[in-house]
Formats: sequence, C-alpha cells, structure tokens
Amino acid sequence: MGALGTGVGGGVELSLYNIAQEMLRRGHSLQILAPVGSKLAQLPIIEIPGNVQIIAQSQERNTPTIMPDNSVLANMWEYARQVQTEYDLIVNFAYDWLPFYLTPFFEKAIAHFVSMGSLSVAMDEIVTQVAAKFPGTIGFYTPSQAATFALNTEYACLSSGVDLSLYKFCLHPDNYLAWLGRIAPEKALEDAVEAAQLANIPLKIMGKMQDEDYWQKICTTYPNAPIEYLGFLSTSDMQQQLRLCKALLMTPRWVEAFGNVAIEALACGVPVIAYRRGGPAEIVVDGKTGFLVEPDSVQGLVNAIANLPQINRSNCRQSAEAQYSLEALGDRFEHWFKKIISQKILL
Ligand code: UDP
Repeated sequence: MGALGTGVGGGVELSLYNIAQEMLRRGHSLQILAPVGSKLAQLPIIEIPGNVQIIAQSQERNTPTIMPDNSVLANMWEYARQVQTEYDLIVNFAYDWLPFYLTPFFEKAIAHFVSMGSLSVAMDEIVTQVAAKFPGTIGFYTPSQAATFALNTEYACLSSGVDLSLYKFCLHPDNYLAWLGRIAPEKALEDAVEAAQLANIPLKIMGKMQDEDYWQKICTTYPNAPIEYLGFLSTSDMQQQLRLCKALLMTPRWVEAFGNVAIEALACGVPVIAYRRGGPAEIVVDGKTGFLVEPDSVQGLVNAIANLPQINRSNCRQSAEAQYSLEALGDRFEHWFKKIISQKILL
C-alpha cells in the first residue's frame, strides 16, 4: 500500500517489522520486498518501484479490484516468482487480491497474513478459494477478525507482539489521555475527542494523518475540545508520551483486526478503554487491564474514564509480558511457517 516506515500501512508495518526481526534473531534468513522509499531499521529490504494500490478501506464492498499502471504489487510478485527457488516460503502481508490469485501459479508455498477484517466481496471470494485449496495457509490476527470472512476451512490466528524492552512501564501517569492510530474515518477519532471534552481531560493524539479532510471536520465540530495532535512519532518518541497517560482510548467503528496500539499501551502499563468489538475486545480484560464499552457509546467511554482508578497498572504490563512478547510472537509464527512448509513438501 505504501513505503514501509511511513505509517501509511498501519499496524501491519509494525507486525512485519517485529516478525522479521524475531525470525532473524532465531537464525532464519529473509528478504523483505517493499515499495521504493521503505525504511525499517537494520532489516534487509529490496525496494521495488511502481505505483501503489488504492487503500482497501476507502472502497465500497462491491468496488471492482483495480490495478494501477506499473503496479508495485505486480512488480513485487514478478520479482518473487523469479527468486522463489532460493527460499522455503513466501509470506504475503498485502491486503490485496493479486497475491491470493497468484498462489496456485507459484512452486513455493505462500503464507498469507491477512491484516484487516472483511472489506470487499472480491477479497472475500479469493481468500475463501485459497483457504479451501491450501488449508492452513491463511493467517489472521484474531478469531473475531477471522469470523468476518466466515471461512469453513482451517486457518491460523496468530495474535501480535511487540519488543517489550522498547516500552517503559509507568506507574504514576499525568492527567491526560492518549489516542493512537491512523487519522481515518474507520478509527472514529471523533468519539474519543467528544469523550475527552465531556470528561474534561486533555487528549494527546498521535498517528499518521491519512485523511486531512476528516481531521479538519473533527476540529470544526469540536473547536473547544482539549486535544493536541503530535504527529506521527517513532516508536521511541510515541511510547514516551503514551506511558505518561491515564489511559488509551480505542474507538474503532469497524471490526478492528487486532489493534497493535492496545498492546503497546499495555506494555507501558497504560489501561485501554475500547469498544467491545474486534481485536481490542479479545485483548482487554474488562475491569483488570482497562474497560470494554458498548460499541459507539461516547457516554460509555466517559464512565470508563471515571472508573480508571480501579485499574492496577502493573496488571497491564503483566498481561503484555505474558501474551505479547516478541518471543511469543516468534513461536506462533515460526510454528505456522514450519507447518505450511512441511505440508507443501508432502504434496
Ligand atoms: N503508530 C506509530 N506512531 C504514532 C502513532 C501510531 O508508529 O505516532 C503506529 C503504532 O505503533 C501501530 C500503528 O501505528 O503499530 C497503528 O496500528 P493499529 O494496529 O493500532 O491499527 P491499523 O492502523 O493497523 O488499523
């Protein structure tokens, strides 16, 4: 969808980075194919030229699949076709129709990591076909994300993980809240802004400015809200702000596939207040590591903010350590990759 390291790809950029880093640490070798301009510290990237796809979540369910001229996605898969014999496995992180369609034409096994819930009919169909033909090769973040595709064949749920050493625990927060993510309608930032205004507590907003018109509309609708936009920050800078906040608000309108920002907050000891749907509803333990609120209820968010003193921030960090470390992430993905490779050899 865009160059890695720019934030335009959302949480899957961090997941790809963490998985690649952990596989290298375990002694595997790998190459990352990504659009020109991609930058991920210390990881081996082959930059592929070409034009990027239209963002999937900005399309209608029935919009036909569109390929731009000189497509970077097609160029990547042409490159992968040429070098495939040098590798045991190809891992696809793109939420796009083409890599699924190409799967039967490749000699090498392909693992498809699907990073969002169901968004279009064409994608649903091709994912279903690949799942049926190559059982177990489709991976999701969470069961609630997988359920949006209604597959009746085997698939993997791999959750997520972060490098916990990069996120510092903070026991005594300042008096503000955080909201993290791409500034785009599916994230419903406006609900968090309204909740911060009603609760009269400042909200720090960090993330990629994906839809400037949407942001301007929020600023016009809530001119007096106590909000501050800090831009798209590096993980290190972002966690320095995040760790000091009373809670992270997660207000997605869609079925969030996972929500990497939830585990980044927990890793800092920051409780998460989220709508009870999608990935966050599987991550947050209501009343222990944050609060799960009736979806789309701003008053529910306000009530949860008032109840924050009930949360012990140590429980948040412990839940990140127990489930979302790089080691745990590596174990899950390595197991999935090995299974796919051994299945292909048996064929
Ligand atoms: N993020 C970041 N800097 C910021 C704000 C957010 O690097 O200032 C990253 C964050 O670490 C996370 C991603 O943006 O990896 C948002 O991903 P998430 O899974 O929460 O949602 P998505 O964008 O995939 O829908």
